Amino acid sequence: MGYNFKEIEKKWQKKWEEEGTFNAKNDYSNKKKWYGLIEFPYPSGQGLHVGHPRSYTALDVIARKRRLQGYNVLFPIGFDAFGLPAENYAIKTNVHPKITTAKNIAHFTEQLKSIGFSFDWSRVIDTTDPEYYKWTQWIFIQLYKKGLAYKATMPINFCTGCKVGLANEEVVNGVCERCGSPVVQKEKSQWMLKITEYAQRLVDDLDDVDFLEKIKTQQRNWIGRSEGAEVKFKIAGSNEELLVYTTRPDTLFGATYMVVAPEHKLIEKFSDKITNLSEIEEYKKQASLKSDFERGEMNKEKTGVEIKGIKAINPLTNKEIPIWVADYVLSGYGTGAIMAVPAHDTRDFEFATKFNLPIVQVVAPIDGSKVEMPFTDVETGVSVNSGFLTGLSVSDAKKKVIEYLEKNKIGVKKVNFKLRDWVFSRQRYWGEPIPMVYCEKCGWVPLDEKDLPLTLPEVADFLPGEDGESPLAKHTEWINTKCPHCGGPAKRETDTMPQWAGSSWYFLRYMDPHNNKELASKEALEYWSPVDWYNGGMEHTTLHLLYSRF
Ligand SMILES: [Zn+2]
Ligand SMILES: [Zn+2]
Repeated sequence: MGYNFKEIEKKWQKKWEEEGTFNAKNDYSNKKKWYGLIEFPYPSGQGLHVGHPRSYTALDVIARKRRLQGYNVLFPIGFDAFGLPAENYAIKTNVHPKITTAKNIAHFTEQLKSIGFSFDWSRVIDTTDPEYYKWTQWIFIQLYKKGLAYKATMPINFCTGCKVGLANEEVVNGVCERCGSPVVQKEKSQWMLKITEYAQRLVDDLDDVDFLEKIKTQQRNWIGRSEGAEVKFKIAGSNEELLVYTTRPDTLFGATYMVVAPEHKLIEKFSDKITNLSEIEEYKKQASLKSDFERGEMNKEKTGVEIKGIKAINPLTNKEIPIWVADYVLSGYGTGAIMAVPAHDTRDFEFATKFNLPIVQVVAPIDGSKVEMPFTDVETGVSVNSGFLTGLSVSDAKKKVIEYLEKNKIGVKKVNFKLRDWVFSRQRYWGEPIPMVYCEKCGWVPLDEKDLPLTLPEVADFLPGEDGESPLAKHTEWINTKCPHCGGPAKRETDTMPQWAGSSWYFLRYMDPHNNKELASKEALEYWSPVDWYNGGMEHTTLHLLYSRF
């Protein structure tokens, strides 16, 4: 038994390395190309976990087969290396994230090479490399120029532990996904990306991509396209109207009360008429301590306060109905107000039962049988107690009531999306600097593209400010700069980009990773696109693939 397996491995791995055996060829005349992509890893301090080789091995097998079949194969590897763990580690140990990241990448590289994966090591990407994030910043500037990046003050999910704004998907059961601390709502000026502008296309284009059906379904649910109507309810004794969006305008005759979000401007508008204002202000204060996720949870105990002193008018029954404020209605979703139809909506039913509000049945099973409330089945329902809609199926009643609303200028047909704009700032150090400066005269101005990359300054203190400011906000020498537009004094943005930034376009960079004139040449993009096979974990696919399509 003279074989030493380790020696044999070493011999061949050395040969692969020297000869670049698995490097993709820039031979664009070879029409047989194959691009296999694995989700590039976050280089954690623990090294590879078993999930990494699991999905890499599967695609490695295919890549090797494709090479033998004569394909020009692109099977690249890289590192998604910005993010909280390196920064939190730096806060604990005072070791700069740059140092930890380089060390971790070296460790990952050694492990991946010793397994013998047939990656193209000549195309390695590291999202924290200024030569890479230069293009991440460049993309941001293009989005800004197209009006797709903007600043807005909005309530954000704020982790009391990490002291950082979180995206909705980073809040799990009301606590921070990473550290487990409670998440509260906080008003903050944020960079936003206008992904909602593409909501319809992000639905439509799912027909053109070769994703697993369950991934398409998850994306459709996340985008949450619904068809319904926007309906105006008059406030009794005034010219003001309360606007609501409903997917069930056919149940309008059964709307027995309304609910507005605690932040709704109606409260301020009618503050002189509302007789229990202090009670409502107190309720609003309590609601601000909860995250959107907590507020939206189906199973939680319903809370709310009736707004006394004003009433709304149901536009079809012309009856005055009460207006409540409740935190399960979110100001950021729809119009921040709903019409409540307790007979046909589970949440409204629970609320009405708890607060003893009227429940009027307006849809019944087609066979006339008695059912328990709430009755939410739209397939077998027909309208009852509904004036001109009575006897119609749910879908016919929807059409007819929308016609009526539009004709009488009470409402319009409307498509709605659950998808929100994308909060694109983080008050953290270890991320791509946002290439924007603020000038008193010109407002927000992007950097000149020739001045990219805007590199992260070397700092020694990674702690976020007490009020949640970015650690960069302490570095005035870096912040103070000149306005690229008028040359006057200006200040740099101190927030950085979220970890999603670098991973949303990395598959394009692999096609032409050393290009220093553009993010990738048109020729390379046309040749290697699309990715032929992408392997990764189900838990990332919904948002990652949504963001990269955007
Ligand atoms: Zn946290
Ligand atoms: Zn200026």
